[in-house]
Amino acid sequence: MISQRSKRLDSSGIRKVFELAAKIEDPVNLSIGQPDFDVLDEAKEAAIEAIRKGFNRYTVTQGIEELRGAILAEIQRTRGKRYEMSQVMITSGVSGGLMLALLSLLDPGDEVIIFDPYFVMYKHLVHLLDGKAVILSTYPNFRIPVAEVEKVVGPRTKAIILNSPANPTGYVYSAEDVRALVEVAKKHDVLLISDEIYDGFVYDGGFTSPVGWYDKVLLLGGFSKTYAMTGWRLGYAIGPADLIATMIKLQQYSFVCAPAPFQYAAVKAIGLDISPYVEAYRRKRDMVYEGLQDVFDIVKPGGAFYMFPGLKYGKASEFVEMAIAHKVLIIPGHVFSERDTHFRISFATGDEALKRGIDILRKLSEAYYAKIC
Ligand code: PLP
Repeated sequence: MISQRSKRLDSSGIRKVFELAAKIEDPVNLSIGQPDFDVLDEAKEAAIEAIRKGFNRYTVTQGIEELRGAILAEIQRTRGKRYEMSQVMITSGVSGGLMLALLSLLDPGDEVIIFDPYFVMYKHLVHLLDGKAVILSTYPNFRIPVAEVEKVVGPRTKAIILNSPANPTGYVYSAEDVRALVEVAKKHDVLLISDEIYDGFVYDGGFTSPVGWYDKVLLLGGFSKTYAMTGWRLGYAIGPADLIATMIKLQQYSFVCAPAPFQYAAVKAIGLDISPYVEAYRRKRDMVYEGLQDVFDIVKPGGAFYMFPGLKYGKASEFVEMAIAHKVLIIPGHVFSERDTHFRISFATGDEALKRGIDILRKLSEAYYAKIC
């Protein structure tokens, strides 16, 4: 009954951790990919008001004009780039935007360049659509491998996906590296898909979007992380008008529209002050980095709320099993990578959990290294 296409997808990596998590009493949970604060009251009130006012029906497929206009104003303020209303649509999360974008772009055999480690969906969505994910390693420093891109980009390349700040590494690309990638994309006339969902969480200065340098960029942004609304399913896509028009056409036959009352609430959410949370995450980032940097190989994350420590020896999946047996939930790096050398920590949790987690991971690293050496 089930298609070969769906059977090709494997969700076992992350699912295993979540299944184990459900069984463990009082775990130290460092596996969660969302903020640990709640939606701000103003946004909640706006959603309740929208529901009461009766904004409960379908909206236009591309999303309500107020929200699209507010997003474009915010992008102009933060990225310095002006867009037309025909270049923006509201999606059901960045996940919805990614699905529509890849559906709009890929014919069987078309290639998409992806940087490893990668957000899990990229590779799987490309494969689901019978495309080919061309995966380039960014280990050990997670910088954009521009010279490698130049080697693999070709007539079948439909897009290059970049994600900064990144999941699972928290890495933020430098302006120079983004610029260099833009030059390669321009030379080969290839679309860049820039997943900027973590743009609200940047700790050491700025983050660079490619949109200022190149018109062939599809910017995917969202509300899930910045405003802690992962369950509201709201995102947006901004880019070339013909691509956006195609994505809207496909949305009409799939998601129909993003959740209506939340679209109205999001207009009010844009610009709400989340800086106290960002400040807290910066401190948590420093705490975890200081606590673990001598026992693992760590590139200090500049954004998001993840860290991607590498083991000095051995296999990360074995180490993660040990950690889970000691009630610390972390995600094995192979879920996000072709390699099994790292693991993902989310530091979007309470300080007590982080302290316990650091302590246990330190002790386990000694035990694990001693066992395998
Ligand atoms: N992109 C990245 C890099 C993510 O980490 C996530 C969620 O974890 C998403 C996209 C999808 O987010 P949403 O669909 O909630 O907007």
